[in-house]
Amino acid sequence: MYFDNTRVERHIVDIILRLKRAGFETYLVGGAIRDILMQRVPKDYDISTEGTPEQIRDVFGRRSARIIGKRFRLVHYYHGADIIEISTFRRAPLPSDGEVSGDENAYGTAEEDAWRRDFTVNALFYDPSSKRVVDFTGKGIEDTKDHVVRVIGDPMGRLEEDPVRILRALKLVGQYGFKPEPSTAAAISASLPLITQCSHSRLSLELEKIIRRPYSHSIFQAFHDFGLLPYYLPFFSEEWGTPECVYMLELLRERNERILQGSYRDSVSLAIATACLPYIERTLRQDSSEERGWQYFRGIEKVIHKTILKVFAPFHFPKRIVASAVGMIMLQPSMLNMSRKSNNLRNKRYLHARELMTLQNKFKWNDPELEAFWPPMASPQRHPADPGDGQRRIKRKPRRRGNDRPAKDSYGDMVQCGNPEG
Ligand code: ATP
Ligand code: MG
Repeated sequence: MYFDNTRVERHIVDIILRLKRAGFETYLVGGAIRDILMQRVPKDYDISTEGTPEQIRDVFGRRSARIIGKRFRLVHYYHGADIIEISTFRRAPLPSDGEVSGDENAYGTAEEDAWRRDFTVNALFYDPSSKRVVDFTGKGIEDTKDHVVRVIGDPMGRLEEDPVRILRALKLVGQYGFKPEPSTAAAISASLPLITQCSHSRLSLELEKIIRRPYSHSIFQAFHDFGLLPYYLPFFSEEWGTPECVYMLELLRERNERILQGSYRDSVSLAIATACLPYIERTLRQDSSEERGWQYFRGIEKVIHKTILKVFAPFHFPKRIVASAVGMIMLQPSMLNMSRKSNNLRNKRYLHARELMTLQNKFKWNDPELEAFWPPMASPQRHPADPGDGQRRIKRKPRRRGNDRPAKDSYGDMVQCGNPEG
């Protein structure tokens, strides 16, 4: 398979080369290589190195590199508004490590680091000096080519050790059309209920990532096809096949397509509003006489808020994101009935609300007048007054906020379910 190394961004290559010059074996790792092999643009880049977090920080200095995490420590490297995760090679914990040391930072070699990853397609390493992709498991390149999800090691054991891997496998199925190989598929089916034992915060975070990405509709479809919904998203499971659910998937597909085309940005609050809209509409429909079925009434805000909580229960999104979703749905009655124009144009959620209106219009009325009435702004970027809802922001002095936002790559310390070692 051809790895187009020009697709690796220059600053990523620079980071890797600096670590190598400092004497540490270093690779680009994870999903980025899989994506580039498939001619896709990586969502993010992960780097793995022989250097310890302190050594990495010393190479770049404290201004651009910060050590994060308590039990599983890694470095966040700041590049503009982007954060690149640099982790140290680790090996799978040995039984002899026991609980005594509690050491999640059992460092290892590059090869050991590859073997403790989840799937063969996620265990490819790229070395920009030799411009070679290293496939330690011997299956990663072939599986990427064949679009196969294969758990590394014993599938059942590895999914029990960390059931979030079930979601991760089905994400690959949904977003890229991968197929689990037979023993991985069997282990997924057998381990679905384990999802309910996973850390709530970790599952919420996964949900936020799924709903934000422009593949949510096909990921939900994969969750349905493999029987995961009753254990992960019970509301979706109950609603599956209803006209509202069909409409939701259509709206999400359209939202996602527009993101991939660059017509709009991947706001998570807009995605939440889009997913909940059909169910809110169903509730409102009964007491509305308006043409488009939307009108204000006292308490509408509460109805919207409650529905959002219900759709994604038992998980919740950060308050500011939900508030933003409620806000843009609140604008729909006047947008759809073409009233309160100047007020709406000044609203900081106008752009999202307009996008939400456009999505509905495409399926419901296809009314060019409606689109023309509400002017688009010059660019699909953020309204100047919109604080945004989850864009990465650099916080030089992050507030201490407990442990509920685990680092993405810290799965090692989150083996909380189905694992007797805890
Ligand atoms: P995406 O395109 O969503 O970023 P990704 O595969 O890069 O996909 P990340 O969450 O960025 O996913 O994780 C980076 C890498 O870390 C993965 O490719 C995989 O090698 C490893 N990894 C992540 N989560 C786990 C896990 N739960 N168990 C084992 N390895 C994991
Ligand atoms: Mg990644």
